[in-house]
Amino acid sequence: MPKYDVVIIGSGLGGLLCGYILSKEGYNVCILEKNRQIGGCLQTFVRNGCIFDTGMHYVGSLEKGQILYRFFKYFDLINKIKIKKLNEDAFDIISIAGTEYKFAQGYDNYINTLLQSFPDEKESLIKYTDKLKEITNSLNLYNLREINTHNIIDNEYITVGAFDYIKSITLNERLQNVLSGLNSLYAGEKDKTPLYCHAIINNSLIESAWRLVDGGAQIAKFLSDSIIANGGTILKKREVKKLIPDANNKTINFAELSDSELIEAKYFISDIHPVKTLEMLDAGLIRKSYRNRINSLENTISFFSVYIVFKENTFEYLNYNIYHYNKDNVWGTDTYSDTAYYLKNKWPDGYMCYTPANSKSDVYADCMIAMTYMKYSELKKWENTTVEKRGNDYLEFKEYKAQKFIDKLEKRFPGLRGKIKAYYTSTPLTYRDYTGTINGSAYGILKDYNNPLKAFIPTKTKIPNLFLTGQNIGLHGILGVTIGSLLTCAEFLGLNYLIRKVNEAS
Ligand SMILES: Cc1cc2nc3c(=O)[nH]c(=O)nc-3n(C[C@H](O)[C@H](O)[C@H](O)COP(=O)(O)OP(=O)(O)OC[C@H]3O[C@@H](n4cnc5c(N)ncnc54)[C@H](O)[C@@H]3O)c2cc1C
Repeated sequence: MPKYDVVIIGSGLGGLLCGYILSKEGYNVCILEKNRQIGGCLQTFVRNGCIFDTGMHYVGSLEKGQILYRFFKYFDLINKIKIKKLNEDAFDIISIAGTEYKFAQGYDNYINTLLQSFPDEKESLIKYTDKLKEITNSLNLYNLREINTHNIIDNEYITVGAFDYIKSITLNERLQNVLSGLNSLYAGEKDKTPLYCHAIINNSLIESAWRLVDGGAQIAKFLSDSIIANGGTILKKREVKKLIPDANNKTINFAELSDSELIEAKYFISDIHPVKTLEMLDAGLIRKSYRNRINSLENTISFFSVYIVFKENTFEYLNYNIYHYNKDNVWGTDTYSDTAYYLKNKWPDGYMCYTPANSKSDVYADCMIAMTYMKYSELKKWENTTVEKRGNDYLEFKEYKAQKFIDKLEKRFPGLRGKIKAYYTSTPLTYRDYTGTINGSAYGILKDYNNPLKAFIPTKTKIPNLFLTGQNIGLHGILGVTIGSLLTCAEFLGLNYLIRKVNEAS
């Protein structure tokens, strides 16, 4: 008898949520994590006493009765996590070419606030917000309605482009850009990003928007506590290198670790990028055509981030995020594919920045996180290096970029430089090496409305006891990965059974 019922590869949000569901339902689960710290993109790091998030900056729909609240109730998180509601009248500020626009919470508030800047656009704003609501309401799982199959691929909006739709509702180019202002939350591409990605993410935040006080690692901690209390096991610093099949080459018997240890289980769930999962399987196990299809999928771009520590009590806490764009084109892809523009001194062309909420002070921020797109190709030179061993020229590159970025931030916050005590940076290589995504891709496989089925990765694989979860099988982000974990665990427990469980808990 194998020691474990289910081995989960990777302790990112998807792996932990699957671990929670299955251990709660009596499965003996073991999560194998390559890093010292669990959580994947939920990981935080501490410098000069400040807690920095790496991939969970804010979340939506946590008001009582809203969808993430209901899921978090089921996952026993809602009464444990420390959260802070962002400003009702401006949770996000979209700054375009010197003018600022506010996104307010609640649909009426959202419309009325934008009407102050676009008084003639009431009809467009109503049309746009009705569409966001219509799309999210059309998704059964998002609304925890019992169903036979998850209907995302049957949904008509997967073949509609977000950019095209927004362009169709108003001729006002500035409004088009403002409505697309949260672009970096889904690494939007004009000719690829489906409307449903834009709609689910924007709807969730317009419903209500929250910071995780002292960082997102608390989610990983509470989930792991529950998994262990349910009898599960979480092993850190255990990198899975290979999945070993049985003698008939039909099912997986073992996960082989980097030190050659074998971990046996009846079932395996991979929370890592599908390309990386396939690399763990011998050629004979998976059809070449499937492997080629997965390997050919495009991934979303990555980020360069600056993590700033402030001198004590010098920088006021901002209870909102800022999405800044130098010019009237918030669709990142145009900017980063325009190499001449990208490499010249205009970089960065846009950024997102915010001050994390900490439990020490509501008045002053101890730090700021600012991030902007960065192409992996810029890092090619250091591709074969590992963390902390990339050489001096890499450090010089980061320093050069950091200075340019801080110059841009200084324009938005005059006097900022004088308040900085220390700063740190991360590049696509950092993400690649800490989370294992391809080329440090922020959100995994890129969705493309021109060929939606191509990027659709089912939770089931051709190997009957190997399943997938995490941001690549559905949508990224807290909500996308949560819904994805339900889909993965539905293979064990049935989807409607799980939907009922979440409904009962909430
Ligand atoms: C910069 C950035 C900002 C973001 N901001 C937000 C936000 O504000 N709100 C939001 O909702 N979402 C945000 N996201 C998205 C969100 O963080 C992710 O979609 C989600 O956390 C991904 O979870 P996951 O389970 O798919 O995998 P990951 O978080 O990628 O975790 C995968 C895990 O697998 C481990 N692993 C990899 N290979 C192996 C191996 N061989 N053996 C063992 N373990 C392995 C990794 O170490 C990692 O722990 C952001 C993402 C990024 C990158």
